[in-house]
Amino acid sequence: MERYVERNSARWLFRRPMTLSSRQPYISFTFDDFPRTALLDGGEILNRYGLSGTYYTALGLMGKGSPSGALFVLDDLRRAIGHGHELGCHTHSHCHSWNTATDVFEDAIRRNRAAIAELMTGVEFKSFSYPISEPRPLTKRVTAKYFESCRAGGQKPNVSSADRNQLAAYFLEKVRGAIQPVKDVIDLNRRQAGWLIFATHDIAPDPSPYGCTPEFFEEVVQYAVASGARILPVSSALRSIGESNSDAA
Ligand SMILES: [Zn+2]
Repeated sequence: MERYVERNSARWLFRRPMTLSSRQPYISFTFDDFPRTALLDGGEILNRYGLSGTYYTALGLMGKGSPSGALFVLDDLRRAIGHGHELGCHTHSHCHSWNTATDVFEDAIRRNRAAIAELMTGVEFKSFSYPISEPRPLTKRVTAKYFESCRAGGQKPNVSSADRNQLAAYFLEKVRGAIQPVKDVIDLNRRQAGWLIFATHDIAPDPSPYGCTPEFFEEVVQYAVASGARILPVSSALRSIGESNSDAA
């Protein structure tokens, strides 16, 4: 229990509150790390519905293997941008967000920002996701300086008093292929006019424990579309929510 409180302590600190005051629900699809299948299969499904997602990359892992399969190669970064997706930051070396010293973590953010500037002219990270765990409070404060938004976990939508420095996400693999809990959270998001950010890793017929199948993923996408939510990559959703707030004011 103490451990739980400690690990979640950052949630109440260094917040950058954002309001969601329109009646329009939002959904974003995000992928961490990211395995090639997240783009080649998951991204293809999103594109088929006229949608795109956010791919959080640790550029130090480019071309390497991972527990969720082979990770992106350089060509995938170009393909992601070409297909309307957003590239986000996930530190350079996939640092553990709690166990890593804050100065080391900050260095890994700066390295990843430098790496994307070198690899992809004109591309800059606006969005971040915390690798592996919730952040330490001081790490959260430092990370927030570099990005419009930082995403964590929590298995719930972001509602009226969301925190841009620690946005909640719903990891699709945690339901182990059961569609009903996902439909329930999409319904909840619609009723509360929230911003539901889905996250996962690989999209494969025989997925890792951190991913899901293309059939399951497509069912989620279809239900999300049917809910009437506006479905956008994280940075575009943030901008659209900001605009709809000023419309409502
Ligand atoms: Zn990760």
